[in-house]
Amino acid sequence: MKGLAALLMQYIRVRYGRRWSNREAFGRWQERQVLRQLRYVQANSPYYRELWGDRPLTQWRQFPAIDKAAMMKHFDRLNTAGIRKEAAMEVALKAESSRNFHPRIGDITVGLSSGTSGSRGLFLVSEREQAAWSGTMLAKLLPGPLWKAEKVAFFLRANSNLYESVRSGKLQFEYFDLLEPIERHVERLNDYRPGIWAAPPSVLRMLAEKKREGQLTTIPHRIISVAEVLDPIDAAMIQETFGLPLHQVYQCTEGFLASTCRYGTLHLNEDVVHIEKEYVQGELSARKFVPIVTDFSRTTQPIIRYRLNDVLTEAATPCPCGSVFTAIEQIEGGATISFIWRAQRTGDLLRFSPII
Ligand SMILES: [Zn+2]
Repeated sequence: MKGLAALLMQYIRVRYGRRWSNREAFGRWQERQVLRQLRYVQANSPYYRELWGDRPLTQWRQFPAIDKAAMMKHFDRLNTAGIRKEAAMEVALKAESSRNFHPRIGDITVGLSSGTSGSRGLFLVSEREQAAWSGTMLAKLLPGPLWKAEKVAFFLRANSNLYESVRSGKLQFEYFDLLEPIERHVERLNDYRPGIWAAPPSVLRMLAEKKREGQLTTIPHRIISVAEVLDPIDAAMIQETFGLPLHQVYQCTEGFLASTCRYGTLHLNEDVVHIEKEYVQGELSARKFVPIVTDFSRTTQPIIRYRLNDVLTEAATPCPCGSVFTAIEQIEGGATISFIWRAQRTGDLLRFSPII
């Protein structure tokens, strides 16, 4: 019950609460959230405390940034639950190989991210964080209110508590294991007829092909691309096949970073994470940046000034939805960034292929 209450509270807060008249007012609110988070982290995470030294918390923008390697290297002293990396890894791997979907240490869920770059990240979430995550996810992605009957098909590499917790009231979730063949998915979709599909773009692309071949006979009313970077060519093909805009979730171990609004524009989830924009120098587009993430919603495995291995392009024009959250035109995955750094060093002119 504790979990459900936290889920509902967060759902209401994200969906119906907090509206800011302008970016400045929003920035002030966000700064307060970050400082509150930093006070907690300074008191509870030995790694961050030592990393920041004596500098006042208000100068947090000058604190050293960390990355995935540092996160994994200092895992034991970074998390605030006293969980050791070896123990967490063992629990997560054992759960995956035995298809036990409840890997836990105490009341902390342990997960392994699928990762877009091949290296996998470990994540820890408490019960409350998990419920809040579900609430945010539902508030941002469900077309109707939470209490409206809805069937959702969730395509995942391996199930985890994190996804299972998104189940409440009239909402029905059906889990589709990515290890199963596509023919099996088509069969089950034709039978179950879910209204919402959440799947990686590679799976959506295969489903679109099955639709064109006539084997897939059902059409959802909302499609959400998750887990992998979406290729614009795939996006166009999927949208055309199903006659629907493609919604997107940009999420990784480091947090729930962006999701699409009702206009299909991807916005940073700046009500749960602060994202600093490290603009790419000398790039063809001045709107490209590397995100440095500070998550002010999670305390078990705090993410403070974490540099991601992705490149985002800010939208050139504001979104008609009027949101104060940054609109994103494109996300390029980890593979792209090495080209940028290399070019920065050599001074080469860069061209971005849309298929990375
Ligand atoms: Zn929008």
